[in-house]
Amino acid sequence: MLGCRVGVVYGDEMLLYSFPEGHPFRRDRAERFYERLREVEGELGGSLVRVAPRMAGREEVLIYHEEDYVRYVEEKCRRGYGFLDYGDTPAFPGCYEASLYVVGSTLKLIDMVMKEEIDHGFNPVGGLHHARRNKAAGFCIFNDAGVAIQYLLDKRGLSQVLYVDIDAHHGDGVFYDFYYDKRVIIVDFHQHGSTLYPGTGYSHERGGGEAEGTKLNIPLMPGAGTREFKEAWEELVEDFIKGFKPEFILLQAGADGLSGDPLTGLEYSEEVHRFAATRLHRYAEEVCGGRLVAMGGGGYNRGNVAKAWTEVVKALATPP
Ligand SMILES: [Zn+2]
Ligand SMILES: [Zn+2]
Repeated sequence: MLGCRVGVVYGDEMLLYSFPEGHPFRRDRAERFYERLREVEGELGGSLVRVAPRMAGREEVLIYHEEDYVRYVEEKCRRGYGFLDYGDTPAFPGCYEASLYVVGSTLKLIDMVMKEEIDHGFNPVGGLHHARRNKAAGFCIFNDAGVAIQYLLDKRGLSQVLYVDIDAHHGDGVFYDFYYDKRVIIVDFHQHGSTLYPGTGYSHERGGGEAEGTKLNIPLMPGAGTREFKEAWEELVEDFIKGFKPEFILLQAGADGLSGDPLTGLEYSEEVHRFAATRLHRYAEEVCGGRLVAMGGGGYNRGNVAKAWTEVVKALATPP
């Protein structure tokens, strides 16, 4: 029997989002994932659907980002050097177009899921969760997850979206840009902010104003592994999400929490990615007709990236 149809954004255009030599966020991350995906394709029983990348239009980026900032990225891109922020996120020739491909491809997966052309989707270069409406940060130029959430709410008319972020870093862009929006339910696992960039994501932050209680931060201390992740999920996440009825689910599946990542101190195995994607897959089939799109995110040990993300694809291909 065939499993669920999983659309994976696949193409050389996705390799364009690659910072200059010596930077940890380079094209070989996606290349290694594509290689591994080809190796396991046989196990997926025909579930894999290759989705050609799509460039977002400027007006799509403006659903979320501020116009002055978009113009700033265009200018920096034309110049092709220097930094977009204070030193983590360099400009490079073509960085504007490369970022448009990331955003457009996440939106394309969402449209395909909404039209039931695929059941679920995965964009390996998406999940750029640190960018804010008005600035770049932490290797993230445009925040495809932020654009996607705003698109689902404002253009697709959905009333509630669940965003789950398992990257080792707190997804501060998405978290704070939707902090006061009660339509956006957020669960964010990350290494404790006192020990890692961006230094945010404390458990007392639960959403502001009428959105209070719609956000859940789960900071874990360095050294926490698969067991700690699963325990926290069982203790905190299951009850939390039961209180909502999302119409679409987004998973930011950053792979930098795996043991051996050069930038972080968590000790997950790829089982964390399998587990989170499986649980959310089941939940999506229960509450929102299976509408679930996953994105990549961080991950700087190439082998880990390839392993973690193929587990995500497998979990989405396997009917719950
Ligand atoms: Zn499914
Ligand atoms: Zn990260």
